[in-house]
Amino acid sequence: MIIDGKKIAATLTQDMTLAVQKMQGRKPHLAFILVGDNSASQTYVRAKKKACVATGITSSLLELPSTIAQDVLLMEIEKRNQDPTIDGILVQLPLPSHISEAAILYAIDPAKDVDGFHPLNVGKMLLGEESGFLPCTPLGIKVLFEKSKISVEGKRVVIVGRSNIVGKPLAAILMQKKPHCNATVTIAHSQSEHLIEICQNADILVAAVGQRHFIKKEMVRPGAVVIDVGIHRLPDKSLTGDVDFAKVAPIASHITPVPGGVGPMTIAMLLQNTLKSCKNQFSLA
Ligand code: NDP
Repeated sequence: MIIDGKKIAATLTQDMTLAVQKMQGRKPHLAFILVGDNSASQTYVRAKKKACVATGITSSLLELPSTIAQDVLLMEIEKRNQDPTIDGILVQLPLPSHISEAAILYAIDPAKDVDGFHPLNVGKMLLGEESGFLPCTPLGIKVLFEKSKISVEGKRVVIVGRSNIVGKPLAAILMQKKPHCNATVTIAHSQSEHLIEICQNADILVAAVGQRHFIKKEMVRPGAVVIDVGIHRLPDKSLTGDVDFAKVAPIASHITPVPGGVGPMTIAMLLQNTLKSCKNQFSLA
């Protein structure tokens, strides 16, 4: 069965649109900062802005040249930290090599860190503390499981990839002693031995490798759930993922497509985090 992330995200977005309509006073505001002219980053920011418009969340975009000094970028972040009408700040990654990604992410007020990358929010996530923000892609995957009625409780979840934005946080979320979590998580990476056997052992296999069609049919246990996080643009401009979908889909019990699987959920969770931040700001005011 194909997990329709686009449809699930659309339903969530509809609910959020109604919630935003009902909000008294100002609407939630998400401030984007885009450095340089990376075309993939431009596409992502455009898609996220479009989703904001559809939901009634207001947004702004500051575009800076790739030569911008780190201090100037930090100053722009601080302005947005101080602005009480801004609920979320998103600095699109990657940044040019002369800028420290850590310095930038740490400078964002954790209360406006809707990407969930600030160490304070990462710490809260690991502790299972719910007042912080969870990173959008892993949170989107968790919600996909819930909405598709796929239980991860007690299941062997194998995540291939240990990045700070997907693999590690997904492991931290799914291992929590909480409803819809309680998974037995294994993380594999480029140094893992016996990768095929590890993957074959998974009830739920998550591919966050960044290599096109890396997960082959032989790596998947028949009946397993397969989640494909990867995004790759082909020469004909179409998108594909980290999983060899055509061969794997017939043996998987559930599988996410690319496009239309995890991607739309990532954007929906960004909106959800922005709404959460706005509600937090209102309750503090
Ligand atoms: P990274 O490149 O940061 O991480 C890739 C991970 O895969 C690393 O941990 C790496 O291991 C591991 N890996 C690489 N090669 C192998 C191998 N041969 N065997 C086993 N493990 C391997 O990628 P991201 O996590 O940022 O992204 C992964 C994919 O997901 C990309 O295609 C990206 O575009 C996509 N993505 C999609 C999103 C969405 O919304 N759908 C959001 C974010 C990312 P090691 O650590 O040892 O190097």
